[in-house]
Amino acid sequence: MHSHANPAGLKQSIQPKTRHVLSGWGRYPVIHADIDDVETVSRIAGLVTRPGHAIAHGNGRSYGDSALQSHIIRTIRLNKILGFEPDSGVVTCESGILLSELIDVFLPRGYFLTITPGTRWITVGGAIASDVHGKNHHVSGCFSQCVIHMDVMLADGSIIRCSQDTNRDLFLATCGGMGLTGVILQAAIRLRRVNSSRMIQRIIPCHDLDTVFAGFEDERQASYSVAWIDCLAGGASLGRSILLTGEHADDGQLAMPPDRTLSVPITPPGFFLNQTSVKLFNRFYYSRQKANSGESIVSLYPFFYPLDSIANWNRMYGRSGFTQYQCVIPKSNGPAAMQSILTRIAASGMASFLAVLKLFGPQNDNYLSFPLEGYTLALDFKIQKPVFALLDELDKMVLEHGGRLYLAKDVRMAASMFAAGYPGLPAFRRLRDDHGLSSRFCSRQSIRLGI
Ligand SMILES: Cc1cc2nc3c(=O)[nH]c(=O)nc-3n(C[C@H](O)[C@H](O)[C@H](O)COP(=O)(O)OP(=O)(O)OC[C@H]3O[C@@H](n4cnc5c(N)ncnc54)[C@H](O)[C@@H]3O)c2cc1C
Repeated sequence: MHSHANPAGLKQSIQPKTRHVLSGWGRYPVIHADIDDVETVSRIAGLVTRPGHAIAHGNGRSYGDSALQSHIIRTIRLNKILGFEPDSGVVTCESGILLSELIDVFLPRGYFLTITPGTRWITVGGAIASDVHGKNHHVSGCFSQCVIHMDVMLADGSIIRCSQDTNRDLFLATCGGMGLTGVILQAAIRLRRVNSSRMIQRIIPCHDLDTVFAGFEDERQASYSVAWIDCLAGGASLGRSILLTGEHADDGQLAMPPDRTLSVPITPPGFFLNQTSVKLFNRFYYSRQKANSGESIVSLYPFFYPLDSIANWNRMYGRSGFTQYQCVIPKSNGPAAMQSILTRIAASGMASFLAVLKLFGPQNDNYLSFPLEGYTLALDFKIQKPVFALLDELDKMVLEHGGRLYLAKDVRMAASMFAAGYPGLPAFRRLRDDHGLSSRFCSRQSIRLGI
């Protein structure tokens, strides 16, 4: 197992079953759980058919409580590659394999992930269950778009193969279904051909919110785009951003990118990240990127995974942990909503240096997938009492503008907020009832949200 496989950097030993102290990536909440590390399908069958609640767990990179439950079926040892077709680029693998392991094997052979989120330390099962998106959602959609088929184990131990064409209901529910339809055992996913392990990156400084929205539209054809927003800049600088676009280079150099990783060795005191330090960082980062604006060749890792270069960065928020608030707003309401949301956050002085804006393309048919055509904003907040009231206020703004929140990041939204944002919920609930899944596969999140 790779050293990055420890969720949240908490002390854990891999025993067949141990009572663990566990949290998601946000280190909040911290719970006690029985963890079964599974390597074989028969072992999983023995576990899912037992009475009581259980939830599948990948590498614990979801921020909140979606992978938390008193009984956890952890899949990181279920990580074999089962087959590969070089012509189509389709790899069949067990669900616990990390995206980083797929990159290690396939990048030197000229293949890369079709869709990748901002960290490579997640499992294929976690990528499907959250139906993750990357910097190319506007052209390539969610992770489920590259899933050819997958095998899911239901609560009675039966294994169902599903795809867009076969057992379609189960496929639509499982992609984005946060582990609530059963345990994904294996999947066939399509990789993309690449001819380089490097990227052509363009840095475009945007001095306010209008400029960054115009920038996203001008760069609609870019294969990848993402903006970092200075969420503490107010007034005329509200929405000041650095827009990054990228294309795969075509130089035939497929050597693995250098993996330079620093580490946050200890948990600093909670006051380490405060309004003054974050403001200073943001000002420094903006002017540094502005000075580097234009085109350059960069390695694939810093382009796709800038945060992976600092191991345990989730410790920086102190012992109380943090949460990431990620909303999406339909395109027509995007600029107005983001203006109100960012104004409120800048006034609160509470958000952190990690604020990211992305453009989403059309939504898919999956019942609970997060993306819809519009803009998504993600920002981190240290867990402290006033944050919860602020986030409740933001929820109202998001709902008023027809938006919703991402389950993979959520740890506190109300059931009513969830139901209002996800019209596919009744169909999802029906499928769970029809297959007898409702009383078996439950997370702390699904119970809180009444799923
Ligand atoms: C630094 C960082 C950057 C990120 N960037 C992005 C991003 O750009 N885009 C994005 O979409 N997400 C992003 N994420 C979120 C992350 O991609 C998702 O939370 C992902 O689901 C985590 O996968 P995991 O293997 O760690 O799963 P876990 O966190 O362990 O579990 C997540 C969910 O998947 C379910 N699950 C896991 N394995 C299985 C299985 N075998 N069968 C059934 N259900 C399963 C769990 O029950 C749970 O509901 C980021 C996270 C981090 C820490």
